Amino acid sequence: MARIVITGGAGFLGSHISDALLARGDEVVALDNLVTGDTANIEHLFGHEGFTFVNADVSNFIWVPGDVDAVMHFASPASPIDYLEMPIQTLKVGSLGTHNSLGLAKAKGAKFFLASTSEVYGDPLVHPQTEDYWGNVNPVGPRGVYDEAKRFAEAMTMAYHRYHGVDTRIVRIFNTYGPRMRPNDGRVVSNFIVQALSGQPITIYGDGSQTRSFTYVADEVRGFLALLDSDVTTPTNIGNTNEFTVSELAEMVTEMVGSGSEVTYHDLPVDDPTQRKPDITKATRELGWVPEIQLREGLEHTIAYFRTIVGNR
Ligand code: UDP
Repeated sequence: MARIVITGGAGFLGSHISDALLARGDEVVALDNLVTGDTANIEHLFGHEGFTFVNADVSNFIWVPGDVDAVMHFASPASPIDYLEMPIQTLKVGSLGTHNSLGLAKAKGAKFFLASTSEVYGDPLVHPQTEDYWGNVNPVGPRGVYDEAKRFAEAMTMAYHRYHGVDTRIVRIFNTYGPRMRPNDGRVVSNFIVQALSGQPITIYGDGSQTRSFTYVADEVRGFLALLDSDVTTPTNIGNTNEFTVSELAEMVTEMVGSGSEVTYHDLPVDDPTQRKPDITKATRELGWVPEIQLREGLEHTIAYFRTIVGNR
C-alpha cells in the first residue's frame, strides 16, 4: 500500500486515477485549486478513509505532512480553450508547479510521475509519433503556452532524475475522453456529444480532415498505473492507435446519439496539429499495455454520462 499525492486530483484524469489507486488499496492526497477541476468529480470519495482533499495551487509552495511514496503531477488546464484563456497559469503550473511537485517528491524520497502530452510533438512531421521524435512546436503561437510548459516540465523532470536521483516517470498522453469531462470543456469529444444531445450544430474546425487517436479514460489510467509501477524512467506514450478524422468522429457521434444536428464549419485554430497517432511499441514492450476499449464502446459510456448532465433528448 502506498500513499500517493495527485496534483490536479479533482480534475478529469486526477479523479479517475484517485478512484483506481483507492480501489487497489493505496492512499490518495488530492491537491487541486479547482480552476478547471471540480469537487463534483471526487465527492463520492469524501467519505473514504484513504482519501484526503486539499485546496491548493501547486504553482505556489506545497507541503504534505507525513510519508509520501509518489507524487503524480496532473495539475494543468488541458483543453486548448482553457489554456488560451489562462495562458500565464498554464505556463506557471507546467513550470513552477512541476518544480514544486518535484521538490516535494525529492524531500519525501518519493517517486515522481509527470503527466506530459502528445502536444510535445506539436504538428508532427513524423507519423505515428515515437518517443524519440523531438517534435515540431511553435514556441510563440497561442498553443505554445501549453506545449512549451510541458516540454519544460519534461526537461525539469529529467534534470531531477539525473542530478538529484529522483525516481521519475513521464507519460505522454494522447486525446483522452470519458465521463467527468466538463460539458463546456471545449475539446472535440465533449463538444460533439453535447452538441448532438442538445440538437445544436456540430462545430467542425477546418475541413475536418485533421486526425486524432482517441483513448478511453479507463485504458489511459490503467496505462498510468502500469508505468508508475514499472522502472521505465524515460517518456512513454500511452494512447490508442486507432486514428480518426474529426469528420469521422462527428459522424459517429451523431449516428450514436441519433441526433439531427447539422454540421457547421469554422476556422481551424492556429497551429492545430494536422495529424496525431501514438507509436505504442514501447508501452506494449515495457509495460505489457495495450488499449482495450475502442472508440465506439468508449463513446457509448461517455454519451451515457453526458445524457445525465445535458438531459435527455
Ligand atoms: N475540434 C473541432 N470542433 C470542436 C472542437 C475541436 O473540430 O468543437 C477539432 C480541433 O480543431 C482539433 C481536434 O478537434 O483538430 C481535437 O481538438 P481538441 O481540442 O479535442 O484536442 P487537441 O487539439 O488538443 O488535440
